[in-house]
Amino acid sequence: MTSGKINVTVENIFPLIKKFLYSDHEIFLRELVSNATDATLKLKHLCSIGETNVEFGNPKIEVRIDKENKKLHIIDQGLGMTADEVEKYINQVAFSGAEEFLEKYKDSAKDSGIIGHFGLGFYSAFMVADKVEIITKSYKDEPAVHWTCDGSPEFTLEKADKTDRGTEIILNIAEDSLEFLEEYKINELLTKYNKFMPVPIKFGTKTEGEGDDKVEVDNIINNPNPAWTKQPSELTDEDYKKFYHELYPMQFEEPLFNIHLNVDYPFNLTGILYFPKLSADLQLQKDKIQLYQNQVFVTDNVEGIVPEFLTMLKGVIDSPDIPLNVSRSYLQADGNVKKISNYITRKVADKLKSLFNENREDFEQKWNDIKMVLEYGMLSEPKFYEKAGSFVLYPTTDDKFYTLEELKEALKDKQTDKDGKLVVLYTSNKEAQHSYIEQAKAKGYEVVLLDSPIVSHLIQKLEMDNENLTFARVDADFIDNLIKKDDNTISKLSEEEQTKLKETLENIVPKQTYTIQTEALDSNAAPFMITQPEFMRRMKEMQAAGGGN
Ligand code: ADP
Ligand code: MG
Repeated sequence: MTSGKINVTVENIFPLIKKFLYSDHEIFLRELVSNATDATLKLKHLCSIGETNVEFGNPKIEVRIDKENKKLHIIDQGLGMTADEVEKYINQVAFSGAEEFLEKYKDSAKDSGIIGHFGLGFYSAFMVADKVEIITKSYKDEPAVHWTCDGSPEFTLEKADKTDRGTEIILNIAEDSLEFLEEYKINELLTKYNKFMPVPIKFGTKTEGEGDDKVEVDNIINNPNPAWTKQPSELTDEDYKKFYHELYPMQFEEPLFNIHLNVDYPFNLTGILYFPKLSADLQLQKDKIQLYQNQVFVTDNVEGIVPEFLTMLKGVIDSPDIPLNVSRSYLQADGNVKKISNYITRKVADKLKSLFNENREDFEQKWNDIKMVLEYGMLSEPKFYEKAGSFVLYPTTDDKFYTLEELKEALKDKQTDKDGKLVVLYTSNKEAQHSYIEQAKAKGYEVVLLDSPIVSHLIQKLEMDNENLTFARVDADFIDNLIKKDDNTISKLSEEEQTKLKETLENIVPKQTYTIQTEALDSNAAPFMITQPEFMRRMKEMQAAGGGN
């Protein structure tokens, strides 16, 4: 047996651990299960590159409560540690073995999924335990060891008789942390942080089957292959919906559509975003986008990472390239994070565009549920605004849906003001303005329904960016003052052509008897008009009757 002093820079780190991470005590389990996962994935990697001949098998991680002895066990079948490695990786606090491993196997281990540090790592165990033990046996042919530390910088290390490969961490739960011996609590934490981790995690057993076929099976709490880790081509619409409910078990509404994110350069990011039904969202606002790193849950506060207008969406984002444990303002200044945010914006815009192009009718039907997010995006993200023109819709009170360009085209000949600007008549309240809407419709005008709370800002922006466009709330004044092109009179001929035409015509018809009009005609009508003034007509009639003298 050996004993010694843990090599720490601060004389006694444990009171500090407790104090500074008080609010985050529960993350100890995430850290320990992450280490167990890493140990398993490291072994898998060593097997796959032929560094060892040991049988990898189907390793799992087990979390077990021993309430009687006030102990919590985390057991893995990973690569284990030799005595030297315990000395090196455990006793040298703040020495991240994951970093060293990745450094050593830099090129081959890139895609191994190893998690590494979130922060405190292994020592976060002391937030809830007053004594921590490690019993571990390396995959190398060396004796097992038992390390014990009671929270002071002193530790002991002795031989152990463990025969199977892997590591068992035993937490002797402190009096003030007894809740971590409760099944419901551990279940809650495993479900929160570890639900999609890549190695199966067993927590107790459950019965399956009916009657005589009843069997006790491992209760595996995680899905090691969540949808977002797969290729979009492997997944059906059904798979995406299924995953939505896996992510939010309390959500019964179906999502409207999903956006699969998948990029590995210049940063690494996968994920699936869902557009929820607006109505459902109001009830379950707490279903938020979840941020993961290598399938470990980190947070559901994605502010600063996802553009603000998209925080109303649901789903997951998984990226090892988002710095953790840094302030939000740091996050916003980080170049990588900015790129990630822009990528997400672009992906969402592209998806909306393709949905619109592929099935416009369906898109129109979903419009009411998605318009808030999109209109907010147009106002807050210039990059989104640039793309929005091709799919943002302006529905009329008659349920026609125009894009902005289509709307301009529809108004061109019938709804302009005296300056020639196109006038978009709109209403924010169909019922309250019913009679005006009817009046406008009777005159053949289009009335657009704009009823989301940020509409006045949107209108301002659209007017600013479209010089020939103005918005007017539908009312009697506006209806009466609009100019229809049918009343307006513009010839297709130039002034010069009109003069020539007039001269030619005057040579044919006597201008004393007829009026020749070439300048004030509807553009769709004949290029000229010959009329006979009323008094001339009467005079001619009188002459024909022989009465004139
Ligand atoms: P990190 O995970 O960032 O490396 P930790 O403090 O969580 O830092 O762990 C320190 C090191 O201890 C790990 O890198 C690893 O070498 C070793 N270690 C911890 N837990 C285990 C385990 N279950 N099996 C094997 N090695 C482990
Ligand atoms: Mg760790």
